[in-house]
Amino acid sequence: MPVQPRLHDEAVKGVALSLLVAGGALAVLVGPSLADALAQAEVTDRALVEASAGRSVAIGALSGDGSVTEIPLELYVARVLAGEGEPDAAPAARQALAVAIRTYAMVQLGRHRREGFDLCDTVHCQVLRAANADSRRAALATAGRVLAIDDRPAEVFYSASCGGRSEAAATVWPGATFPYLQAIHEDDVHEDDEPWALELTIDQMSEALAAAGFGGRLRALAITAHTTSGRVDRLRLDGMRPAAIAGTAFRSALGTTRLRSTAFGMTRAGDRVRFTGRGYGHGVGMCVIGAGRRARRGEDVEAILAQYYPALELADLGTLILPGDGAFGEREVSEGGIVARVPAGSSVSAGDLRAMAARAHETLSRTLGTSISPVIVELHPTLDDFRLDTGRPPWASAAATGTTIDLVPASALEARRGVSAALRTAMAEMLVAPSLADRPAWVRVGAARYFAAAVPPEPGSLPVACPADAELTLAVSAEAQRDAEARAVQCFARAYATTGDWRKVE
Ligand SMILES: [Zn+2]
Ligand SMILES: [Zn+2]
Repeated sequence: MPVQPRLHDEAVKGVALSLLVAGGALAVLVGPSLADALAQAEVTDRALVEASAGRSVAIGALSGDGSVTEIPLELYVARVLAGEGEPDAAPAARQALAVAIRTYAMVQLGRHRREGFDLCDTVHCQVLRAANADSRRAALATAGRVLAIDDRPAEVFYSASCGGRSEAAATVWPGATFPYLQAIHEDDVHEDDEPWALELTIDQMSEALAAAGFGGRLRALAITAHTTSGRVDRLRLDGMRPAAIAGTAFRSALGTTRLRSTAFGMTRAGDRVRFTGRGYGHGVGMCVIGAGRRARRGEDVEAILAQYYPALELADLGTLILPGDGAFGEREVSEGGIVARVPAGSSVSAGDLRAMAARAHETLSRTLGTSISPVIVELHPTLDDFRLDTGRPPWASAAATGTTIDLVPASALEARRGVSAALRTAMAEMLVAPSLADRPAWVRVGAARYFAAAVPPEPGSLPVACPADAELTLAVSAEAQRDAEARAVQCFARAYATTGDWRKVE
C-alpha cells in the first residue's frame, strides 16, 4: 500500500508520557481575566458551539455505522484533542495541538465529499473521543486560530516524537511541495531520550515485506542512503523484488508501532537484526513530546508553534480564504453518465474533460466488453491536492479507484504524456479492475496500459520477469515505476496472446 500522508501519525497514541501539568499558566491567546475564569470553570458544549461562530464539520462515522454528524468546529477540536493529546500535558502544549488539529480540519475539509461528509473519524483523518475538561479548555482558548500561509490555512503535520531533529515533509511524502516544511530543525529537548531497540529475524522481515507485495525471499539488507536529517532514506533488500525500498515504506511494512521511526541504525548477528533508534513517528512538523517539554519549561503556545512551524503565522479563520470560498471554486459538468470536475482557472475546461472521458469510455468499453456508470473524473488543482486525495507518488499522473478517476493538474499532464493519454489509461484501469480484482497487480496494470495504448504492444520475444506487486505500488523512483510498468505490459501481452481473453490472464 502507498504510504498515506496524514496529519497525525498513529504513533501519537499510546506513548508513555511523563509530563506534569504546569500550574495555572493558561492561554496567552485570551485576556488574563478570561484565562482565570476558564481555568476554574468547566467549559460547556454551549460555549464551544458559540465559539465555533457557525462553522461546523460533517463527520462520517467510518469506525461505526457510517452515519454523518454535523459537529460545531470547536467541539470537534476538543473531541480530537482528547484522543490525540498527552493526558498530562501543560496547557500551552495542548493549545498548540488544538491549533494544529483545527488547521488540519480546515485544510482537509471536504476530503470525503464524494461520500457525503467532510472528514472521517478514523486515523485516515482524525480520531474523535469524548471531550474532557482539559481538551475543552484548550479548544476554547484557541478558538478560531489556525496556522496560515498566503492567507490560507496551511497543510500541517505532527508526530509523537522527532527524537531531536525534525524531518522534511518531502522525505516522508515524496513530491510534497510545502516549502515551509522542508527545513530541518534541531529540537533541543530530547537530550535525555532513551533510544528504542527492536530485534527481528530475517525471516520475520521477509514475511512482512512479502505481505506488502514484495517478491522473493530476503537474504540480507543494508541501509544505502540517509535523509539530510539523518533518518534512513533507502534500504537494499537482497533476494527480494524490488531490491530497494524507501525508509518510510520499510517502516510501514514492518509495522509503524514496531519500528517506531526511520531514525535507526542496524546490526546483524546471525539471522537476527537489531534496530536501535530515536523518536516515534514521521518527525515532520510539530513534535508532541517536544511541545510538552517546551510547555513545561515555560514556553507559551506561540513560542511552541514558532519552533515547529517557523514559516507559518497564527491567524484567525475569519481573516483567511477557506475551502468553499470563490478562490477554491471548481467547475463541474455532468452528462451521459460522466461527471467531470476541474479547478477554477484550469487550462482544460470541465466540458472538454467530460468529452475526452466519454470518448475514452466509449472506445474502451467496446474493446473490453464492460462498462461503468456513472464515472467521476476530477482534475486536481495542485500536485499536493492529488497526493492528499489519492496517496499516490508524485510521478503518478492518475489514479482510478472504484468509479472515480483522479488526475494531477492539467499543466502537469501536458508536460507528461498529455491529458487524454493519462485519462485513457486510468479509464482502462477502472474498467478492467472489477474483473481482475483477485489477480497480481501486474495483470491489472498491464491490461490497462495494453488496451489504452494507441497501438497494442507486441509481446516481446524474450520472457520478462513479471513485476511483484510492490514493484508497482512501492517503487522508489519514477524510473523504477516505469520499468515495472513496461514489464507488466510485456507480461500481459504474452499471456493475452495465449488466452485470447483478458479476463483469463493470471
Ligand atoms: Zn478520512
Ligand atoms: Zn522533538
